[in-house]
Amino acid sequence: MKLSRYLLDSLDALGIGACEYDAQMRTLCWNRTFLQFFPEDDGEIYVGEPYADNLLRFYRHRLPPEDMPEIARHVAEGVARHENQTQPFEFIHNGRKLRAFSLPSPDGGRVRLWQRQEFESDADAAAEPALPVMDALRFIPDGATILDAKERVIAANNAFRRLYDLPSGTPVVGRTLDEIISWCWRGAPPAGAWRAAISNGLRYDGVPFEIELPGQRWLRLIARHSTGGLSFFTHADITLAKRQQIELLEAQEALRRANAALAELAETDGLTGLANRRRFVAGLAEEAARRQPLTLMMIDVDHFKTINDRFGHLVGDGCLKTIADVVAAQAAPASALVARIGGEEFGILLAGVQVGVADEMAAAIRRALALVPWRTLHADLTGVTVSIGICAAEGPVDDTGLYASADAALYAAKRNGRDRIERADPPPAIRRIAG
Ligand code: GH3
Ligand code: MG
Ligand code: MG
Repeated sequence: MKLSRYLLDSLDALGIGACEYDAQMRTLCWNRTFLQFFPEDDGEIYVGEPYADNLLRFYRHRLPPEDMPEIARHVAEGVARHENQTQPFEFIHNGRKLRAFSLPSPDGGRVRLWQRQEFESDADAAAEPALPVMDALRFIPDGATILDAKERVIAANNAFRRLYDLPSGTPVVGRTLDEIISWCWRGAPPAGAWRAAISNGLRYDGVPFEIELPGQRWLRLIARHSTGGLSFFTHADITLAKRQQIELLEAQEALRRANAALAELAETDGLTGLANRRRFVAGLAEEAARRQPLTLMMIDVDHFKTINDRFGHLVGDGCLKTIADVVAAQAAPASALVARIGGEEFGILLAGVQVGVADEMAAAIRRALALVPWRTLHADLTGVTVSIGICAAEGPVDDTGLYASADAALYAAKRNGRDRIERADPPPAIRRIAG
């Protein structure tokens, strides 16, 4: 069968595009309106052309570049549709909305007809939907939109309008989601990645993504694409879940900060603000395990009990704070670990530096203490001195052994008259541990 020229011309007169295919889906004939609707076929289509080739041209013309890798699937689905179509369907092509009919011919071929449809205005769409599927949108509790191949809305339900706060009468048909969301934000959308999310959402099928609206509201969108280039979007309000999620994240963050503050507190000496003994012992164990030079310095205030006894504990406390400041200031350039390791005892851990640095630091601490105006703490308070014990080792080293040696050096300084520095070599047995 082949449609007569007279019939094809008659269809032109009615503004109906027509194209006929034989049982092997090869092109038999077409009319002028067909070429008007599908200008990409003009000069390309030929008698005997397989329908699949025609579809290939069609999709090349309308698919966005990112969908091109999928073109074979689109063509295969289009061919299957061609063979099985019983109901007319509508799609947008070259700015026209077309209703496509497919009629089986007696010899096993197909005649396809395209009739141009008017785009309904919003009001019309609401009053009298063109297709049952448009009507069905009203029964979807979530917002629902259908977009054409150029990503413009061709239908939307009322739930969609409510979700996006669109006053009734605001035209949405012909707008992109991008434009509608921008409108929601009154032209000042947040810098976030929502635009990229939308274009991603448009590209992927069925992958939910979230967008934020003014007033701390959130929607979750899911896109579904039809083979004809249309896409169907659902828009669900997830504000409540999102707010709970944000509150949870904020609570978790507050907890994390509180934990960090507690951990810091647990390792800090309350009086001087230096690291405490716990932190110092942990730091020593950590550094002692490494292959590096390690120097431990112990500082003990001389006759501190007398200061307490004579001037009271408050003056004693002031004294400890001053000494802590002096020790920390002298140790700072070497980025050493400085701690208050006992009542009037301080420790300095120097990792990765030669022992000479510790010797100089100890001497500098004694010099700096000699310059402190102790009388500002109490009129009768003079010359507060310290005794210092130093032990240097080459790591990895036994940390308790190193500690004991530095302590022994400190007591040697005490024994030898106080206000002095003593060095101790680590006993040979603990000089090095395996490693
Ligand atoms: P030595 O030269 O032998 O080190 O004599 P010392 O008096 O410094 O040593 P001793 O260990 O006899 O006394 C240490 C004193 O430090 C005893 C204790 O009351 C005091 N002390 C410990 N912690 C604090 C504190 O936080 N504040 C005050 N004010 N005194 C403290
Ligand atoms: Mg002491
Ligand atoms: Mg002391």
